[in-house]
Amino acid sequence: MTTIMDGKAVAAHLSEGIQHALEESHKHGIQPKVAFVRVGDLSDSISYERAAMKRFEKLSIETEQYHFPEDISARAFLTKFREINEDYSINGILLLQPLPEHIDMKRVVELMNPMKDIDGMTPFNLGQVLTNEKNRLEPCTPAGVMEMLDFYDIDLKGKNVTVVGASAVVGKPLSLLFMNRDATVTTCNLYTDDLTAKCSTADVIVSAAGAMNLIRAEHVKEGAIVIDVGINFNDEGKMVGDVDYEGVKEKASYITPVPGGVGAITTTVLAYHLMMATDYQKEPVLFLER
Ligand code: NAD
Repeated sequence: MTTIMDGKAVAAHLSEGIQHALEESHKHGIQPKVAFVRVGDLSDSISYERAAMKRFEKLSIETEQYHFPEDISARAFLTKFREINEDYSINGILLLQPLPEHIDMKRVVELMNPMKDIDGMTPFNLGQVLTNEKNRLEPCTPAGVMEMLDFYDIDLKGKNVTVVGASAVVGKPLSLLFMNRDATVTTCNLYTDDLTAKCSTADVIVSAAGAMNLIRAEHVKEGAIVIDVGINFNDEGKMVGDVDYEGVKEKASYITPVPGGVGAITTTVLAYHLMMATDYQKEPVLFLER
């Protein structure tokens, strides 16, 4: 029997924790607030921001949107970003990607207060993931994958895990999170030789490549756990993942659908991270000490 992993159930579980943290904050007179920062009007950024806004509003969390024109100068944007970063009423920042080419993303991210970094982009938070330090804010999609596995009580110690995709936002940090759980990790990319061999021995496969039908039945060991992070649109405009869901479903012990899997968790993880960020800001020394 295959278990279809339900992202909405995971999000609902996380939301309970968020509500509790929110009530505690209110008791201390703190009203957690998130800032959405977007430059330009790319449709992908707009729809992600909309989804996140909806989630935060549903959780009754205060939001503030900062939109800047595509042609804002790098200097003007950095000045504005510094102001947002230093604003005490803002506990978390979601910087929508990508920024226009003339604005150096690395510079902006380095400026960001790691305690407000709810999507775990800053070198500090990524370093904390690398060294497996307790106080950290993780990139939200990899964190969502781990929330999914934890919700279904899947022990990762000693498991062979293949992560397909090696980007800085998903594949690489996710591989580190698996290593932190004592799994043996193989991380694949576009140039990986014999992807089938790398996947077909894995106990857990996570695909985050952005390639439709990349993971098919021949890639999957009987009883493996298959997590699909990919988002693609087929010829009919329907959202699909990287995994041939119908072909793989019967072989897997657990599988995530698309939509309704990992994608249904990520914005709730952002809200959860906002609560963590608010908490860290109460005792910054704890967060920053090494
Ligand atoms: P990216 O393009 O930055 O990186 C893709 C990675 O996959 C690269 O390392 C590339 O080498 C590898 N890859 C691509 N094609 C491959 C192939 N045929 N075989 C093996 N490796 C291959 O993308 P990203 O930002 O990491 O996102 C990956 C996917 O996850 C996209 O579909 C994206 O839309 C999706 N995504 C989903 C969520 C969510 O919440 N579900 C969040 C972020 C990204």
